[in-house]
Amino acid sequence: MKKFDVVIIGGGPAGSASGALLAQAGKSVLIVEREKFPRFHIGESLIPFGNEVLRDMGVWEKLERAGFMTKKGAEFTLSNSCGFQRFWFRNNLGPEHAQTFQVERSKFDSLLLDHAHQSGCQISQPASIDSADFHEELIDLKIQSEAGIEAIQASYVIDASGRDAWIGKKLSVPKSDLGLSKKMAIYAHFENAYRNEGEAAGHITIIRMEQGWFWMIPLDEKKTSVGIVWEQEKLKATGSNLEERFWAMIHSSKEASFRLKGGTLLGDFHATTDYSYRYHQSAGSRWLMAGDSAGFVDPIFSSGVMIALRTGGLAAQTILKQSPSSALSLATQKKYTAAVHQMTSVFLKMIELFYDNDAFAVFMNPRSIFKLRETINRLVAGQTEMDWSLRWRFRLFRFLSWLQKRYPVAPRLVFSE
Ligand SMILES: Cc1cc2nc3c(=O)[nH]c(=O)nc-3n(C[C@H](O)[C@H](O)[C@H](O)COP(=O)(O)OP(=O)(O)OC[C@H]3O[C@@H](n4cnc5c(N)ncnc54)[C@H](O)[C@@H]3O)c2cc1C
Repeated sequence: MKKFDVVIIGGGPAGSASGALLAQAGKSVLIVEREKFPRFHIGESLIPFGNEVLRDMGVWEKLERAGFMTKKGAEFTLSNSCGFQRFWFRNNLGPEHAQTFQVERSKFDSLLLDHAHQSGCQISQPASIDSADFHEELIDLKIQSEAGIEAIQASYVIDASGRDAWIGKKLSVPKSDLGLSKKMAIYAHFENAYRNEGEAAGHITIIRMEQGWFWMIPLDEKKTSVGIVWEQEKLKATGSNLEERFWAMIHSSKEASFRLKGGTLLGDFHATTDYSYRYHQSAGSRWLMAGDSAGFVDPIFSSGVMIALRTGGLAAQTILKQSPSSALSLATQKKYTAAVHQMTSVFLKMIELFYDNDAFAVFMNPRSIFKLRETINRLVAGQTEMDWSLRWRFRLFRFLSWLQKRYPVAPRLVFSE
């Protein structure tokens, strides 16, 4: 029977990052990926604090050569076009975080998984885990592929199965829904939608309605990803099918209509419901969760792939620090869980502020005093490790958002079209 140091469930960004790093360090790794690649996947806008893992994996130059759109910042606008803020990562961050990529995930995920393979990982694809029995010394797994069922063994399993959360479900790990409302996203690719000029051509544009929001992500010279996110029940009530709902929302917004005027639909509309959740524990004695399998938060700040890459990297480091084949101690499990939760917790606070119209008014009018603009820029870029100065400025931002409800410190936002 084949035995691997590590078996990774899922070949998305989390799985490829941990796989590549482990194989490069000499571990025997099998990545089991259910789908044939290339395959469509949502999550196309990266943020710069994921760059480091892409560089550590040695895939950065390949991404540059692949011709992905360069993303140098993000912009936020109101649905009625009355309010606009543009952020440039380079204004407050070093060159390593000054830019990143917008990616068509079919191409990006294939490139990362190929890189993991070239780094030494074995890939079983299309294949999925049929069963896993966790013992004190190792894990017995059965892999189902086109060739049939194969029994293998591993010292550790990394669950990078995305929102399928294979281990969380299999081991009934307790989880919370994080108190965010259930949302739905409808999205498609378009050709010739509106483009910013010059260096801002690669910016993500977020268009904020009174409740929901749109994204516009430039994927290449012509192609733009456009999506709408709103509470599930409300979005469903706007039409009888995805296309009707999508256009009803676009037509209700001056800014979105303007940006999509002249755009041609490419392919189909897709939809996904997005339930935020987080498992209470991200590691056990012989398993670790990385990426969405550990938790998923509302996608407004494009945090998913960054968290997937960083937790994938952290899972690899955690295993590499172990003496060979030893079980993860309780302290190691807790440390890993705390690090994973820290990343999602910062975004959770940001997400709550984004959906609060008073806080969003402060966000849209950041003052240069107390470096509030810099603080927001750093958070939008994905800085979740809080040094003292970022921590107190983030607190100040939350305090001003609270104050805004009572005494306006920023002009109140008007959402009427
Ligand atoms: C509406 C919406 C918009 C988003 N926008 C953004 C964005 O702009 N930027 C951003 O960074 N993130 C965004 N995200 C989040 C992003 O999609 C995810 O966070 C990211 O893909 C997580 O990566 P992952 O590697 O953890 O999981 P995934 O990318 O989901 O990869 C998991 C892989 O595991 C495989 N798999 C699943 N089950 C099994 C199994 N049993 N056996 C074998 N393989 C299996 C799947 O086929 C898949 O390839 C968005 C999400 C949503 C819902």
